[in-house]
Amino acid sequence: MFVSYICTKKFPFTIMLKELISSQTCAKCRFCCTFDSSDAWELPVIDGQLAQTSALQHCRFDVKNSVCKFAPQYNSEGLFACPMLTENGCRLGDNKPFDCRLWPLRVMTAGNYYLLTLSPNCPATSQHSLTTIIEFIEKHNIAQIAFDNAQQHSQALHHYIDGYPVFAIKKITNKEL
Ligand code: SF4
Repeated sequence: MFVSYICTKKFPFTIMLKELISSQTCAKCRFCCTFDSSDAWELPVIDGQLAQTSALQHCRFDVKNSVCKFAPQYNSEGLFACPMLTENGCRLGDNKPFDCRLWPLRVMTAGNYYLLTLSPNCPATSQHSLTTIIEFIEKHNIAQIAFDNAQQHSQALHHYIDGYPVFAIKKITNKEL
């Protein structure tokens, strides 16, 4: 059923993730859209057409990698809210970056492998059992969809970080390198 989404940019992770975390919970929390210096590496990487065509405020275009990255300007509490964050959530809607659509799940890399991991920092997901999360990932075939989309968002991938539970692994093929 989800095969048709694999090659599209707007695969419906956001819709699927709502099964685990309600929109209301996300809207109240905003944790994943606010950063301090320790998690600045999680700032969204805007790629594809959105990076090329939009003049996003505070977003610096990286010509070499064809991506846009926000330059954090921390407030007096040491926090930087993503400029795309509004009272009603992300202004990018369904065009939000790959990492944001997938979060709190993440595709990370370790050597020649993609890993589907889960951020241990999401307050809402941490209320679910691992079994619930595994069943959710399997039900929606999320690992395959995430891995199949990973190559076109390679600038948004991060090296594996200890402590992130791993739910699936895929060897990166020569074609994807
Ligand atoms: S791009 Fe949108 S979803 Fe991603 S961090 Fe910014 S406000 Fe949040």
